[in-house]
Amino acid sequence: MNQSAPSVLVVGAGPTGLTLANSLQKQGVSFRIIDKLQEPARVSKALAVWSGSLEAFSALGVADDFIAGGIRLTNIRVGDGSHELAAMSIAEGVDSAFAFTLIVPQSKTEEILAAHLAQGGHAVERGVELVDYVEIGDTVRSTLRHPDGREETIDTLFLVGCDGARSIVRHKTGIAFEGYTEPQTFILSDTRIDGPLDSTSIYIWWSSAGSVALFPVVPGIWRTFAMRDEPAGEEPPTIEEIQAHLEASGPPGIKVSDATWLSTFRVNERLAAGYRKGRVFLAGDAAHIHSPAGGQGMNTGIQDAANLGWKIGAVLAGRGDAEMLLDSYEAERRPVAREVVAGAAQKLKFGMVTRGTATRLVRDALISVASRLPAIRQKLQVELSETEIRYSEGPLVEAVRRISGSATPRAGARALDLTLDGRSLWGHFSAARHTLLLFGPPGAHDRMRMAAARFADALDVVDLGAEPAAAARYGLHGAGWVLVRPDQFIAARDDADAQGAFDAYAQLALEPAR
Ligand SMILES: Cc1cc2nc3c(=O)[nH]c(=O)nc-3n(C[C@H](O)[C@H](O)[C@H](O)COP(=O)(O)OP(=O)(O)OC[C@H]3O[C@@H](n4cnc5c(N)ncnc54)[C@H](O)[C@@H]3O)c2cc1C
Repeated sequence: MNQSAPSVLVVGAGPTGLTLANSLQKQGVSFRIIDKLQEPARVSKALAVWSGSLEAFSALGVADDFIAGGIRLTNIRVGDGSHELAAMSIAEGVDSAFAFTLIVPQSKTEEILAAHLAQGGHAVERGVELVDYVEIGDTVRSTLRHPDGREETIDTLFLVGCDGARSIVRHKTGIAFEGYTEPQTFILSDTRIDGPLDSTSIYIWWSSAGSVALFPVVPGIWRTFAMRDEPAGEEPPTIEEIQAHLEASGPPGIKVSDATWLSTFRVNERLAAGYRKGRVFLAGDAAHIHSPAGGQGMNTGIQDAANLGWKIGAVLAGRGDAEMLLDSYEAERRPVAREVVAGAAQKLKFGMVTRGTATRLVRDALISVASRLPAIRQKLQVELSETEIRYSEGPLVEAVRRISGSATPRAGARALDLTLDGRSLWGHFSAARHTLLLFGPPGAHDRMRMAAARFADALDVVDLGAEPAAAARYGLHGAGWVLVRPDQFIAARDDADAQGAFDAYAQLALEPAR
């Protein structure tokens, strides 16, 4: 590798690119982040920030800003005409240090992440567009166009396309964006709403004429989604059209006024055929897009960035097996996106697209029954929270799975929270470092401590002592250890006297590169 070249070019300063840039900054990696827009976008596509993203933000040191700036959701309310069929508690059954969901407009999410970058001395280069790149040996040579028309060529070791659904990076790689476009046109508005709505709830409501979804944006302002009736034109809706949909299918007694955003959109359900080509990566909407039903797109991109960021950082620091680390990004994250895309398509069809009296009766019955079953309610909430994601594929997980014992949570699962000295374990995790959790009495871990000391520049040790409840949380019956990655997934684990899984993982991610 040519070590004099700048390290990483991040293309796109949406939520994915900004999260990646924060991860690189935290690791001390040199990078540039560009966005072709002169100004940050003022409209907010995404609203919901789920527990999995808050966990990732915590390890980046920004979770408190989100909590301070967001509305905590309490319920998803589902209804038909004048009847509420179900009110399901948000985050019921979610096992997380952040067992709640925030509504934060995407513009605010981007503002928080950009402000944190600025505190670390990095600014988004605005009005700068990637127009081309070519990979030459161990360098990516990118052509950037500046606002004054000037073209600049820069060489970096890695290029990450966080440049959204129409990603030029993806086009240039030749990686296919496999999937389809849904035939329907959807309308969207952000408006003032007067009426009997609870400002901490999401509303999914229907009649035999159609469906609407309502989300609080900021106090007094609501996002409305509906499917446009045939014939479906692409022109933005009027406030009267939104009002008509709400009167036909929404909760009763709602009056819409003062629109700040009126738009239409078509839904694509697509997944990139690959996430990596040589030194070029795709993340976020550049790699996967799907219906907004379930509110997962931005959150999935944020967690792509959390996964890729530490791996690029490790490779640039000369740690581990570069090819294995970089290949593990697609192996771990693409299956997650495949599930998210399929789940969002199903939710769209169930909640918004299917119509008619028979469908309505079946849907009412299903919701009434399902919402009374805690297991079903919790399954939905846990899925939305993105906290039960498990990586079961890829070189990092496969290297340790068989020798890491059979206790759960296994390697590839997310770490579980514990309270240590009155503080959440997430207060000890860093997006820049691994964390070795030790469970057991003093003296039980002398060998593991020696092993860990070799990687003190990249690994923290947290001693949880011999408290049985802490060990039980991690499925341990005696002394043991759990190694947690910088993205808070379990790297390897075993009993105190078994070090093989630690050594196998360290070869791939911690040992000096050969
Ligand atoms: C109506 C709607 C509602 C949604 N609600 C939710 C929700 O509640 N929760 C959720 O998780 N998701 C939601 N989503 C999805 C979410 O908005 C996206 O998944 C998210 O914006 C993806 O972030 P990103 O950073 O990957 O891409 P983007 O936000 O698209 O950002 C890409 C950036 O790259 C820049 N760029 C593009 N090309 C270039 C270039 N050549 N050079 C330089 N810069 C470039 C663009 O200007 C842009 O700023 C919703 C989407 C829609 C449409």
